[in-house]
Amino acid sequence: MDREEMCKLRLAKWLHKNYENLSEKHSWETQERCRTSFEDLPEENKKVMMDMAKRIIKTLQIQHHLHLVNNLFNVRKCPSCGSEKTVRINRYQVECESCRWKGDDGN
Ligand SMILES: [Zn+2]
Repeated sequence: MDREEMCKLRLAKWLHKNYENLSEKHSWETQERCRTSFEDLPEENKKVMMDMAKRIIKTLQIQHHLHLVNNLFNVRKCPSCGSEKTVRINRYQVECESCRWKGDDGN
């Protein structure tokens, strides 16, 4: 099993455990055959959890990459209007070209 599979499996187990715990907390009745350890789940249910894990990991990876790219090019979302048109005005501050918000660059 490679590293990615391992991450997926760990996250899938975590999702299953937390889904069951939270369901109990909120009195949501899950299927009887799903109230068991991850290993003993029906195969189809395991596949759903593994695919959920895959999607979460992919989404986080994309967001992480976007964050890195934004940092690289000094793009920062304006906290006031949400625009990505912020420009550095000096060593410490950025300004929004849309709403003229000025602030710390956060680095
Ligand atoms: Zn703005």
